[in-house]
Amino acid sequence: MTPDEFRAAAHELVDWIADRRADVESRPVRPNVVPGEISAQLPTTPPAVPVDAREVLSDLDGIVAPGVTEVQHPMHFGWFPSNASLSSVLGDFASSGLGSLGISWESSPALTEVEEVVVDWLRQLTGLDAGWHGVIQDTASSACLVAMLAARERATDHLQTTTGLGGLDQPLCVYTTSEAHSSVRKAALLAGFGADFIRLIDVDPTTRDMRADALAAAIAADRAADRRPTIVVASAGSTGTTAFDPIDEIVAVSAPQGVWVHVDAAMAGSALVLPEMRHLFDGLEGADSLSWNPHKWFGTILDCSLMYLRDPDHLIRVMSTNPSYLRSTAGGEATQYRDWGIPLGRRFRALKLWYQLRIDGIEAIRTRLRRDLDNAQWLAEQFRLLPEWEVVAPVRLQTVCVRHRPDGLDGDDLDTHTLDWVRRVNTSGSAFLSPSMLDDRWMVRVSVGVESTERRHLERLLELLSTATSPRS
Ligand SMILES: *Cc1c(COP(=O)(O)O)cnc(C)c1O
Repeated sequence: MTPDEFRAAAHELVDWIADRRADVESRPVRPNVVPGEISAQLPTTPPAVPVDAREVLSDLDGIVAPGVTEVQHPMHFGWFPSNASLSSVLGDFASSGLGSLGISWESSPALTEVEEVVVDWLRQLTGLDAGWHGVIQDTASSACLVAMLAARERATDHLQTTTGLGGLDQPLCVYTTSEAHSSVRKAALLAGFGADFIRLIDVDPTTRDMRADALAAAIAADRAADRRPTIVVASAGSTGTTAFDPIDEIVAVSAPQGVWVHVDAAMAGSALVLPEMRHLFDGLEGADSLSWNPHKWFGTILDCSLMYLRDPDHLIRVMSTNPSYLRSTAGGEATQYRDWGIPLGRRFRALKLWYQLRIDGIEAIRTRLRRDLDNAQWLAEQFRLLPEWEVVAPVRLQTVCVRHRPDGLDGDDLDTHTLDWVRRVNTSGSAFLSPSMLDDRWMVRVSVGVESTERRHLERLLELLSTATSPRS
């Protein structure tokens, strides 16, 4: 494809994207497809002859797009907001168009240096002190794995350079709670900790926040049994109910013992840009690492997960491989982000944040987040006023967890009812919500926070729920 052919095709693609975004509300939130339905429309053998870009766009429109769950739809309340602000999409285009290769500072000096500047802007906007050093990882799952590896090597004084875990006479222990995201357990297993040494610390029954006294007891018990407490992963905004583990108390228990504290704020970290919400993260300054995803509520298109570290030099020692062909003449001076995580090659992800922050501006983003906080409180209040509805977890941020409990319904019957009404809403395509387990019973999470969701969409949701839960004639 020549630059001129690209120009023509790209203009058409951009128009198509803008049109789709403009009329997102006219489409169902969830595609009405069964597994295999999309792949069945595609040829099973690779394309034999080249076609015009217009033909590809036509198939994108006719086959692919109808198979996409519209997470930018204002009636999408599933999982978490996965906003893709159009300003950040421009940055993503720019990254693709530049076609840079990020494997070292020298392979694209601007890629490294814009990233350094932008992650530091975000550090300032989230109220973190200047002792934090940041990097963009692909996802919070990767950031958690990186934290686990760094903690493991700190606890073992870099055993990776000699015997690895095989030379260790004490098992290494990880502490988190049952509320932690599945990626925490996955990271612990991949980092070699072993399922037997993942401790799920008790939570407060109402808030589901980790109990620091239970953490202290678990650490003491492991020490007494000659095991090595290595890392605590604190959830700052858990996926299920937005529980906030008390970071200040966790740090007070862990830091004196040399136990690494990683704060997983993947979803809720966006709230750090609101000074009035920072109390939820009290004690953060004492942690060793933090990650949060601008690619969720904040509005940067996937993938963009910020990770901040207190001691990047330690991480670099763990991650650096430095083969001769990558050795930089600027070595020692320039940042080499390949040594801050697992992949060698990186995209110019910083451009997404650069575009978004410059075009949308932080104040507009803050206003939107505050709108969502207000909307969630308003919605919770409506549920509390309605007969038969219960709000089953504190509304810390923008997620409202509910059950519909008609008279006398309990146990398995209540579960059947919950799954039945939520399925009816979701298959209608009018709205999308995620069912989730709480105390071994189903409940439904209403995650507010799509960029286009306004109060009127919540009013519409309440109408839909009223219909879906009313006894069928
Ligand atoms: C979404 C989420 C994750 C996983 O994020 P990825 O970037 O998709 O890996 C981890 N932890 C929490 C609390 C989350 O909300």
